[in-house]
Amino acid sequence: MSPADVVIVGSGVMGAATAYWLTRLQPGLRVTLVESDTRYEKASSSLSASSIRQQFTCPVNIRLSQYGIAFLREAEQHLGLPDHPVALGLQEPGYLYLAQPEQTTALRTAHQIQKHAGADVTLLDPEALRQRYPWLNVDDVALGSLGLSGEGWFDGPALHQAFLNKAMAQGVQRLHDRVVGLDHNDTHISAVRLASGGSLPCGQVVNAAGPWAGEVAAMAGVPLPIEAARRTVFVLSCPEPLPQCPLLIDPSGWWLRPEGRFFISGAEPLHTTPGLPLEPDWAEWNDEQWACLAHRIPALAALRVERAWAGYYEMNTFDHNAVIGPHPGLGNLYFINGFSGHGMQHAAGAGLALAEWMLRGKSTTIAVEELGFERLLHKRPLRELAVIG
Ligand SMILES: Cc1cc2nc3c(=O)[nH]c(=O)nc-3n(C[C@H](O)[C@H](O)[C@H](O)COP(=O)(O)OP(=O)(O)OC[C@H]3O[C@@H](n4cnc5c(N)ncnc54)[C@H](O)[C@@H]3O)c2cc1C
Repeated sequence: MSPADVVIVGSGVMGAATAYWLTRLQPGLRVTLVESDTRYEKASSSLSASSIRQQFTCPVNIRLSQYGIAFLREAEQHLGLPDHPVALGLQEPGYLYLAQPEQTTALRTAHQIQKHAGADVTLLDPEALRQRYPWLNVDDVALGSLGLSGEGWFDGPALHQAFLNKAMAQGVQRLHDRVVGLDHNDTHISAVRLASGGSLPCGQVVNAAGPWAGEVAAMAGVPLPIEAARRTVFVLSCPEPLPQCPLLIDPSGWWLRPEGRFFISGAEPLHTTPGLPLEPDWAEWNDEQWACLAHRIPALAALRVERAWAGYYEMNTFDHNAVIGPHPGLGNLYFINGFSGHGMQHAAGAGLALAEWMLRGKSTTIAVEELGFERLLHKRPLRELAVIG
């Protein structure tokens, strides 16, 4: 098999975005995506809620979201092809975090971090919330935090496909195979081994294997604390419209947002064993959950559950944050993993940051060094506190 300059293991949105940026920054670079599931049936990128927010507690995540929203607004310029216009259906009604009295200190602290990082967010008292959202019950709410711009949702699978199409138009190859091993010594990976029996020599390797990133890292003897954490998304219909409905985060932990004429919603899972089968956990839809939603939005007392699906968060159990950049020992092994449920919105920025790191030794457009692998080695977690569900 002819050698590649870069082999990317996995072609979900992270692999595709990295391939796009590598070949955009360095035309002619030989990049091969190896993908075991070219229908992306289990990929997080197909099963995502695909929303974007600025309301994080780590400034690096806010930086990635700021880049992400600018990229999404200009996606056609970046990713458009003559026969493939890019239609992402981006909408920006904001995220609304609601806090009960005991949660207001944390919400105010997060607000300070976000304002300092330049996010367009505001705090709303219950009266302001009532006026803006008359369908919302805020009797037990002390404070809300709303993104005034730069927050909303979009068609994530369409973004993934657009990255793939553009990357391949720029010369990236996609190989339908499974990586089953990495040939390496103490400092270097020389080739990836394939389930079909072949082996692909390469200059650099990117682990973009999403929820399965831990298995790929283990092939090089590298422990990576990433688990396939199942999340169920319920599709609901509501007989009444909820004007200007944002992506709502309830103090009890559930989230809800409009999706066309429906709504989608999820909550913290009941079962947290890694790698559970990708079937919705219907036990999460119970009377308590129903009562909780109807308490916050009385119109939802008459809701109907239309269907549900399940996908994996690629959960970084160390600190709920991404790992981007090279391995300190195996210098040509790179990571773009562990986004813990917020990767779709960060794919554009993370792919750019990694491509710059690989080609220029440093991410120059967005400072992401603090997401590097070293923090795992030195046991210095960078905890993201705003993890949803
Ligand atoms: C229910 C749900 C809701 C979410 N909501 C949001 C949201 O609102 N906003 C947001 O920003 N993010 C959200 N996310 C997270 C986001 O979807 C993910 O962070 C992102 O899609 C991760 O992309 P990825 O490319 O790393 O992983 P994936 O899309 O899973 O791609 C990894 C690919 O690697 C392949 N692969 C794995 N191992 C191998 C191997 N050995 N050989 C070859 N190929 C291999 C797999 O087949 C897969 O296609 C959500 C995720 C889920 C599941």
